[in-house]
Amino acid sequence: MSDTDAGPTPAEAFAALASPVRVRLVRTLGETAADDPAAITFLPFDHPDRGLAYSALRERVDVADSGRFNYHLGELVGSFVEKEGDRYRLTWLGALAYRFLVAGRFSADPVPRRFDLDDPCHRCGGRVEARYTADQLLYVDCTDCGLRTMMIHVPQHGVAGRSHEALLSAGAMRYRTHVRSLTAGICPWCSGRVETAVAEADDETRGQPVATHLCRDCGGVYFPSIGAALLSHPAVVAFCHARGVDLRDYYPWTVPFAFAPDHAAVTSRDPLRVRVDVRLAGDRCRVVVDDRLTVRSVAVATDVADGDENGGEQGDESQCESNAHGPGGDEPNEDGTGAGDESVVWDG
Ligand SMILES: [Zn+2]
Ligand SMILES: [Zn+2]
Repeated sequence: MSDTDAGPTPAEAFAALASPVRVRLVRTLGETAADDPAAITFLPFDHPDRGLAYSALRERVDVADSGRFNYHLGELVGSFVEKEGDRYRLTWLGALAYRFLVAGRFSADPVPRRFDLDDPCHRCGGRVEARYTADQLLYVDCTDCGLRTMMIHVPQHGVAGRSHEALLSAGAMRYRTHVRSLTAGICPWCSGRVETAVAEADDETRGQPVATHLCRDCGGVYFPSIGAALLSHPAVVAFCHARGVDLRDYYPWTVPFAFAPDHAAVTSRDPLRVRVDVRLAGDRCRVVVDDRLTVRSVAVATDVADGDENGGEQGDESQCESNAHGPGGDEPNEDGTGAGDESVVWDG
């Protein structure tokens, strides 16, 4: 185990857990904290009563040979485990490793399931099915035309043995969180820098334009629809909210402007412009993005007839160059200040 400030190398970290005894040690210390939420919520992080005394830890991990127990414990101290006085507890890294174990990310036996969803396919009106695989991936697919609206990793632990609804809710929340982070230019897997582009429709992209997100640091990729990438854009959220719709109440795959096959239309190729129409209560919010998913314009029109492409001249149009990547500016905010528009003075 490295004793530098840099912490363990990946090889050292994985090696440190390549022992059933050490995994048990991490689990035991993690369960101790999980069994006693007060230990986390109310005690200061460095409170001396956090963690387990040596004798209690040894008893719970149940290793008869004290030399062997001490050896394995010693391998963890300094990285996953810290010792203060007589007490041992997980470091932040150790707590992360524990959550990893609890989430069952490397478990071999998630229980696959498959069940029908209530809402019909946006494209063909056919049957939509949810499928949870042994890889812990949740898919939402049309069984008739094959339209795939979602694929997201859902750790099995929290959903094993729970209702289909619980699985869908977890998947929907993870999907939103991932898409929001990617759209903001921050990798949800490694916190690295995400490169975003808009790809035109082809067979690979389910016949509709999609956002393509690629993490330059870990190679993670994701391809949400343009509408899905706009689910958290303030103009869209405000438009829906003003018409009595809280988008958080809907599973992403049931939102027509996020997944209907004609929801996004290419209106110009050079420069690339893709238009998404959010239609609600007879009104329309038209959002136009460019080839980097930057929102180029937002136009709200009232009393727009179905299929009326250019109606609603009376609508209130507000041009903007805000970025679907928040916060602020045309570029993802690489300096990470999140300062927004400095000219804005908040009340209160
Ligand atoms: Zn279909
Ligand atoms: Zn990454």
